[in-house]
Amino acid sequence: MFEKILIANRGEIALRIQRACRELGIKTVVVHSEADREAKYVRLADESVCIGPAPARDSYLSMPALISAAEVTDAEAIHPGYGFLSENADFAERVEKSGFVFIGPRPENIRIMGDKVSAKQAMIAAGVPVVPGSGGALPDDPAEIQRVAAKVGYPVIIKAAGGGGGRGMRVVYTEAALLNAVAMTRAEAGAAFNNPEVYLEKFLENPRHIEIQVMADGEGEAVWLGERDCSMQRRHQKIIEEAPAPGVDRALVTRIGERCVEACRTMRYRGAGTFEFLYENGEFFFIEMNTRIQVEHTITEMITGIDLVQQQLRIAAGEPFTLRQRDIHLRGHAIECRINAEDPFKFTPSPGRITNWHTPGGPGVRMDSHVFSGYTVPPYYDSMVAKLITFGDDRHQALMRMDIALSEMIVEGIQTNIPLHRELLQDANFVRGGTSIHYLEHKLSQRA
Ligand code: ADP
Repeated sequence: MFEKILIANRGEIALRIQRACRELGIKTVVVHSEADREAKYVRLADESVCIGPAPARDSYLSMPALISAAEVTDAEAIHPGYGFLSENADFAERVEKSGFVFIGPRPENIRIMGDKVSAKQAMIAAGVPVVPGSGGALPDDPAEIQRVAAKVGYPVIIKAAGGGGGRGMRVVYTEAALLNAVAMTRAEAGAAFNNPEVYLEKFLENPRHIEIQVMADGEGEAVWLGERDCSMQRRHQKIIEEAPAPGVDRALVTRIGERCVEACRTMRYRGAGTFEFLYENGEFFFIEMNTRIQVEHTITEMITGIDLVQQQLRIAAGEPFTLRQRDIHLRGHAIECRINAEDPFKFTPSPGRITNWHTPGGPGVRMDSHVFSGYTVPPYYDSMVAKLITFGDDRHQALMRMDIALSEMIVEGIQTNIPLHRELLQDANFVRGGTSIHYLEHKLSQRA
């Protein structure tokens, strides 16, 4: 096992990785920007290095700063967390070329999955069902584009091959709007992602977002660890996640999980990964793969009893892969509410000093957060300040525990979306389970 690793991230995930390391006896180097100097996890780390000023591009996104921090502290490996450089193949490559272990997949796997056209092609090859579409980048010939769209059937969605974070997509309902939409998406994609390639797929009108967690050893062994339903979203940002997905046929999920495992074997995938699907009318359609640990990995940990961050560390260190599919049993139900520092009605960010922070507890309650009373939420980064997770023998118990936990939680000094979570916990459709990805936006528009 490693003796010392560097954590190239901030906030709750930096603390989460640090906890996994401590349990395994690994020393941690935490990097931080000038804005994160006072963070609790920075003080708790064995070593810390200031890597630059507050803006992420000068600190958490600075490859030279991160690599020299690893050099001066003699760290053996770098954990990228999520966001920032976690899915940057060039970073993974530079880390490895500099003689460190990148705690994640091989750069070539990150690269293939980072391009949605090549990712989709890899999935088709592995027998993973994908959204019907152009089957590759769209050609230039207008007549050919129209022919492809007509064959797929309207509505269609035009997507940038290099897109991400919910950007670079356009829905088209009629042929009249098609060519203009393709041209606009191409221009935007060229400017934003430096890659003008676009593709087309069927636009699913009322899907759920269901994803499969995998873990693989890089040598052809892989397992899947159940699924998560992340349909409660606003502007493509997940707000509540749960595992397992309510009301989905277990035999069907198992077949999809097995296809994902097969895909990992074929590409000799290494580490943690997530296959994201849209689910509609009893069918799964792959949309993209995330080649990193995800925010919502916690709920999978709750229902499998497996520490995913420790697994990442073990795999990266080259320890024998001990996970076997037959030993993976899903038990109970887990829900995660992302607590964001934002106005619960207007959704404007609400950074600032937290004067009082009281977190809930009791059976089946987990709180992943780097926040404490007196902590100042900096205005420079993501607004998520905590993940509140509850676990129950069944969905009803997990929901009840979440409702109680939210009612116990006290945050003063900043605004949070806790009132929105409490409202959703009372929402009859959410409580019934199985709402689509459009449900929250629709509900919010009624509320306004
Ligand atoms: P990104 O990498 O930007 O997150 P995704 O491919 O994961 O892009 O898509 C983001 C979101 O866009 C999905 O969660 C879904 O809400 C919507 N979306 C993408 N493709 C389709 C589709 N074919 N039909 C309907 N909605 C889609």
